Amino acid sequence: MLCPSPRKGKHSKRLPRNNKNEEHDFYNKAQNHARNGLPPVRNERPVMLKYAQALKIIADHTGPLPTIELAPADAVGHVSAVKLESAMAVPPFDNSAMDGYAVRAADTGDASDTNPLVLTVTGVVTAGEKTGSAQAEAGTAWEIMTGAALPPGYDGVIPVEQVQVQRDSDGMPVSIELTQSVASGRNLRRTGEDFAQGSLLLDAGQVIGANQVMGLAATGTTSISVRCLPRIAAVTTGNELGDEQSELQPGMIHDANGPYLQTALDEYGAKNAGVFRTGDSADELIERIESLQPDVDMIVTTGGVSAGRMDFVPAALEQMGADILFHRVAIRPGKPLLFALLPDGTRVFGLPGNPIAVAVGLRFFVVPALRTMLGLPDERYLSAKLTEPMRKKPGLRFFGKASAGTDDSGNLVARVLPGQESFKISPLMQSNCWVIAPEEADEIPEGTAVRVAPTKPGTLI
Ligand code: AMP
Ligand code: MG
Repeated sequence: MLCPSPRKGKHSKRLPRNNKNEEHDFYNKAQNHARNGLPPVRNERPVMLKYAQALKIIADHTGPLPTIELAPADAVGHVSAVKLESAMAVPPFDNSAMDGYAVRAADTGDASDTNPLVLTVTGVVTAGEKTGSAQAEAGTAWEIMTGAALPPGYDGVIPVEQVQVQRDSDGMPVSIELTQSVASGRNLRRTGEDFAQGSLLLDAGQVIGANQVMGLAATGTTSISVRCLPRIAAVTTGNELGDEQSELQPGMIHDANGPYLQTALDEYGAKNAGVFRTGDSADELIERIESLQPDVDMIVTTGGVSAGRMDFVPAALEQMGADILFHRVAIRPGKPLLFALLPDGTRVFGLPGNPIAVAVGLRFFVVPALRTMLGLPDERYLSAKLTEPMRKKPGLRFFGKASAGTDDSGNLVARVLPGQESFKISPLMQSNCWVIAPEEADEIPEGTAVRVAPTKPGTLI
């Protein structure tokens, strides 16, 4: 079964538009008054939201996606949509945890160094074999292998290393001598001890990975209900972006954001619906977005959302009839970030073009939207003590490229890396997390506990 095409409009809840101002008219006017193909520089500043306000707007315009039934191996990377009970008991039968001898505990009560007990070996059972139904007789034992079913009547296993074995000429055990008693239940794995039949196997909102596949396989689960993955396409914009195959012309740069998004969208839990590139052209962007719309839940653009002459993305979205729900958030890096709803319900994140603004936009705006669509709870970040002081601009929430690890006591510590400018990718390559510093902070001393988000959502550092 396939995920249905995104049903547009269904998940878009409209809010009172109290966060809007005249900026939208500005974009329209800018379009109409464009001279020489360039819109005028904007002289009005859109309202700047706090990060928490922006997250609220995103949450209010996003909802869980439909569910599909998938085989466990195909469900890896998906999120379970409903609670699932185990259809069977695991282990399905009492079995031995050791290679040794199955005994009747009651026979062994008096065995000791000074009073050794001899039991006659009357059978052998290996893993995968049937045991038969005959009840064990007093004074007997069965040779038993790890994972083999416990023959009826026995209720404990003594490991082979703890007995003296008398063997016949073929090497088969004839009798064993014990010098210790065996408690009932010793070295046994009881039926249903891991998964009782009907017990909770998978909760709603669990990410399916190898750990879950193991339990699903052990319980014979062939199909699970999971949320469809949000289909997200990305469009990088900029006349300066060169084709990675050919040599760069003067003034051009390689497109770092496209390949980043190509990787990160899948890695962060979305279904990558393609990554494209356009020049600084509203027409080109509109054409691309229109062609993507039927097949995606969300589009991420990079570049062209600031206040420069070439920042045409808001105007292009306006021209498409988009509702721009916010534009500008009090964060660093990535302040001019934009979130809009197209008339068909496609959500659009317009991220500024600087690569670190893109990484922050994806990690701290797109990922929360993704999690809502996947039916995951809000992410809870870790806490780490700073190993070095840091400075930030007050009034803006700061997301710093950082490296976290453990101190000598095993406690989490973090360091904000040098080179926090939003064009600098080299520290990002050395980072494994983000340090999140609150708006009001200015100078933050060494030893202060700060919030830390792992690079990849949902992982411990
Ligand atoms: P913009 O947000 O379009 O004004 O771009 C801000 C900065 O990011 C400029 O220096 C751009 O050249 C740079 N930039 C934009 N897009 C990309 C990209 N895809 N890869 C690398 N740098 C980019
Ligand atoms: Mg640009």
